Amino acid sequence: MGKPKVIILGAGYGGMIVSRELEKTLMKGEADVTLINKHDYHYISTQLHKIGAGTVSDDHVALHIPDLLKTNHVKFMKATVKNTDFTEKKIILESGEIVEYDYLLIALGFDVDTFGIPGVEEFAFKIRSFRSSKAIHYHIRKEFAAYKEDLDSSHLTFVVAGAGFTGIEMVGELVDQLPKLCKEYAIPYKKIRIINVESSDSILPFFDRKAIDFTSAYLQKNSVELMTSTKIIQCKKDAIILDNGFQISARTLIWSGGVRANRLLEQWDLQLINGRIPVDKYLRVNGLDGVFCVGDAAYFLNEDEKALPATAQVAIQQAQVCGPNIAAAIRGQGLKPFTYHHKGTVASIGSKVAVGNVFGLKMTGFFAALMKQVVEARYLFVLGGPVFMAKVMLAKS
Ligand SMILES: Cc1cc2nc3c(=O)[nH]c(=O)nc-3n(C[C@H](O)[C@H](O)[C@H](O)COP(=O)(O)OP(=O)(O)OC[C@H]3O[C@@H](n4cnc5c(N)ncnc54)[C@H](O)[C@@H]3O)c2cc1C
Repeated sequence: MGKPKVIILGAGYGGMIVSRELEKTLMKGEADVTLINKHDYHYISTQLHKIGAGTVSDDHVALHIPDLLKTNHVKFMKATVKNTDFTEKKIILESGEIVEYDYLLIALGFDVDTFGIPGVEEFAFKIRSFRSSKAIHYHIRKEFAAYKEDLDSSHLTFVVAGAGFTGIEMVGELVDQLPKLCKEYAIPYKKIRIINVESSDSILPFFDRKAIDFTSAYLQKNSVELMTSTKIIQCKKDAIILDNGFQISARTLIWSGGVRANRLLEQWDLQLINGRIPVDKYLRVNGLDGVFCVGDAAYFLNEDEKALPATAQVAIQQAQVCGPNIAAAIRGQGLKPFTYHHKGTVASIGSKVAVGNVFGLKMTGFFAALMKQVVEARYLFVLGGPVFMAKVMLAKS
């Protein structure tokens, strides 16, 4: 019998950390491990809003995957996954190539949910991938240039849909970046409108009152218009239609209205719950031999019978257990059950302030922003060690 073949689909948080764990755990020649991803870079999804606003350099967010693989235990293959045959244990790639596996990890992450609102799919910008976020940045610059041509104020009206975690982080980056662009294009800042539209009656659900009040006050001080209890019902190329009968003349809608698991999973022969793949306590896909799943694609019921949220924190912790579990499965050893430990959440509002709750300690302002940097640094440390962490952090500006 040949060496067992392990295939990892997706090089996001889940796929990268499982790859690192297998590099550490497997002996040379124990298995053939291949990591498959659409692009040859791993993007740090939690930083995509900064790429959208243009507040960090690409090197800080997009990391060349072969450089991240420390040993030759894991091979990298740049390819787009199209389909699966779980009976024959095969993966079908967009190129038509077929890859066989004995053990499979599905870590294909998230998609943006536009809830079928007319025009959002066509005209809104999405914080979904490195490329889609980069497109936001180019578009904003294009709008500044267009304003200089025709002085149409709709070019300088920037609307962010959703005041949840990602929406608020996006607005915070715009608050930091747009004054700089105004200087560059010699446009008075008072011409800019940043509008945040949220359908529920409050920003930042899941945060406490103090964090919500701090965020609202900070954004209002920076001239952000917060429109809560307001739904977007249509997006056009040059206007956003609201459910209260008003419309906003704008050519930029950044959609942060919600995420869901990768839509591709719906095309596969899988039983899904809310679009996600149910996994057991060992992170194995129910009913499929040798198949594991982590991160946003996985539906994991916690001890309180609630599904774990789609966060990087969950994906990383699952991957740290799933990697050794795949190695144990190869060796015929017992697997370790996954237990989630919530460490806290910090939402940045630009680079200078943030709000959060870490290990039960509630924080707002500059200290919270520092804590956010610690969280970022910790991930880079886990991914590549101290030198790598320092290199990426210094590539920031
Ligand atoms: C702006 C923003 C801010 C966030 N901030 C936080 C935060 O502060 N804290 C937190 O815990 N979480 C945060 N999140 C959520 C977090 O980013 C996700 O939960 C996390 O990325 C999930 O990791 P994953 O490995 O499941 O998937 P992903 O990181 O999405 O990785 C999936 C990978 O699969 C690849 N892929 C997809 N389809 C295919 C295909 N067909 N073929 C090949 N490859 C494919 C993608 O290119 C990608 O590399 C944030 C998300 C966003 C968008």
